[in-house]
Amino acid sequence: MSSQLIRGLLLIAGSALVALPAGYFVASWVGWSVFCTGLGLQMVFHFRNFARLERWSRAPNADPDLEGQGAWDEVFGRLYQHEKDVRAQLARRDAEIAMLIAAGQALTDGVVLLDEADRILFCNTTAESQLGLAIASDRGQAIVNLVRQPEFVAYLQGRDFDKPLTLRSERVRDCTLSIHVIPYADNHRLLQVKDITQSERLDRTRRDFVANVSHELRTPLTVLSGFLETLQEIDVDPAERRRYVDLMAEQSKRMQTIVQDLLTLSSIESAPPPGTEVIDMASLIDKLRRDAEALSGGRHTIVVESDGRPDLRGSEPELVSALANLVTNAVRYTPAGGSIRVVWHALGQGAEFAVEDTGIGIAPEHIPRLTERFYRVDRGRSRDSGGTGLGLAIVKHSLNRHNAQLEVTSEPGKGSRFAARFPASRVAGV
Ligand code: ADP
Repeated sequence: MSSQLIRGLLLIAGSALVALPAGYFVASWVGWSVFCTGLGLQMVFHFRNFARLERWSRAPNADPDLEGQGAWDEVFGRLYQHEKDVRAQLARRDAEIAMLIAAGQALTDGVVLLDEADRILFCNTTAESQLGLAIASDRGQAIVNLVRQPEFVAYLQGRDFDKPLTLRSERVRDCTLSIHVIPYADNHRLLQVKDITQSERLDRTRRDFVANVSHELRTPLTVLSGFLETLQEIDVDPAERRRYVDLMAEQSKRMQTIVQDLLTLSSIESAPPPGTEVIDMASLIDKLRRDAEALSGGRHTIVVESDGRPDLRGSEPELVSALANLVTNAVRYTPAGGSIRVVWHALGQGAEFAVEDTGIGIAPEHIPRLTERFYRVDRGRSRDSGGTGLGLAIVKHSLNRHNAQLEVTSEPGKGSRFAARFPASRVAGV
């Protein structure tokens, strides 16, 4: 029997103990009055506490500002404690859920949690922007009603999740997603959405590059092996033989140049960021002028406008390679009689190296693509002048690594201007 019940019975017994002598010695109605008063006081006491409990139960709180009396004090105490424990547990669980949601949001991949009927339970902001969802309004909706691309619907309903689905986004232009479904907890599913646009582009660039290199090398190789076969099989006279050997030498020289440019490009790409050693621009520009004059062989007017200032900071071999490419291109794409002007001067906080020519010029649609590897406006003309189509790719890479920008302006038939703009951080003495 509980102590509260015993206490209650003892109080009734106590009232009876006082009431019995009163009834016996005074009058029975006095005894009954004493007994009923005792019972009434107890009932008032319990009703008051019960009313407090009833009020509290409407809006339970864990703050024991309402204290019970007597036996009720213990009951209230236990209820408060229980309420406190429940609230602490809920707060812990809320904190854990908040941490899980924060972890989900921190993922760089999109994440969507689906229930057994493919209804959305949760998705992070990355998935919202990748798939066009809005968790605030889409929670509980079937995902196939929101992402309606037939490939996606078929993949989800096909239930074969061994391989991820590659999906070209209909919402975001040029965006490719890889969607991986991971089943978890009783027919629930987790969608992991990766944006693979960049890696796809890199793959494509690599494939194109390999195809281009093979194509570029195959042409001179075919010529070479053709002549070799002829020489092996047919007895040709010495003059003809001489001509064949010259042509073979020309093709092998061409392959050497391509390989050399590829090596330059790859060494620039894999080299550590250029340092900050000071490059003597006066002697670099003087060397560029001498090389241009040698290549031109007197066919062009070459003017250099520079007092050699300011000096640059960076990797000398890389900058020589970039700037020399611009100068030799001007010579190669300017017909005899034309003129070439090389300018090096401070510009704003930085400096500018510009090469202007009165050559064949470039149509506007080609200009954005000039720095792509192996891109040429006129393949035959480039080849005839010993070009590989890699020169401006080398220029772009070396300039990028020196935080410089290449600016090209040109007009077909009139000439071109290639300008490299260096920021203040690359100019010595600033
Ligand atoms: P290439 O070895 O073919 O010259 P580049 O990468 O140096 O390769 O240049 C890419 C293309 O840009 C060239 O094939 C040519 O069509 C065009 N080009 C570059 N410089 C000039 C210029 N100064 N004038 C006209 N066209 C140019």
